[in-house]
Amino acid sequence: MVKHIEHIGVAVDNIEEALKTFEVLLSSQSYKKEIVESEGVKTAFIRVGESKVELLEATNKDSPIAKFLKTNKTGFHHIAFEVDNIDVELKRLKNKGFKLIHEAPKSGADNKQIAFLHPKSTQGILVELCQEKRE
Ligand code: ZN
Repeated sequence: MVKHIEHIGVAVDNIEEALKTFEVLLSSQSYKKEIVESEGVKTAFIRVGESKVELLEATNKDSPIAKFLKTNKTGFHHIAFEVDNIDVELKRLKNKGFKLIHEAPKSGADNKQIAFLHPKSTQGILVELCQEKRE
């Protein structure tokens, strides 16, 4: 089951600079900054009610964010939906013909298991599915 919009991912050149804007805009401080080495990203999260804004800065030139910023301006990057069972949802969507970027969930920022769907099968939007990690 898809539960709600967990966060919106925003690609930025510089997280500290971007935080100056978003912390004022949302009248809230970032509650977490985290580097995800496997993805080559530095992230910062700011709460917006039930959802969050995730700022993403590349940590190296091979990072998906560095590649994105080569052909796009900073701004909207992906939308993340919280699901109750990421394995079940990936299987369901694959069976429905969705193109998966990740066939199996991987470890993401903010204590989540994540997987991305290809924009080709989601009307041009990069979609992330995420599920809280369970111990
Ligand atoms: Zn995300």
